[in-house]
Amino acid sequence: MEKQQEPVGSETIASFPKEVQKSRIPTSCPMCKGTVTLATFPYTAKLTRGGKPVEVHMEKFTSPKCTKCGEILFTRDSDDQITAAMREHLTSSS
Ligand SMILES: [Zn+2]
Repeated sequence: MEKQQEPVGSETIASFPKEVQKSRIPTSCPMCKGTVTLATFPYTAKLTRGGKPVEVHMEKFTSPKCTKCGEILFTRDSDDQITAAMREHLTSSS
């Protein structure tokens, strides 16, 4: 029997580099070795869903962020927030 196509779910977040998709928060920035703290800030996530670009804006996005260079370090929790926001975005716009 042929293998089925992969299920198309809402987990299609392909924009983030794999190396930062970790559930634990790093204490120092991989870019500049600066201090990383958990911050809440407005953020617009640019995603691809079904081959179409989708922008999801969040007023309060909580994610580890470098205090020195501003690099955002995405965690599983960040992913969850984006997924939830995208779901809401898709529901309200269609
Ligand atoms: Zn940094």
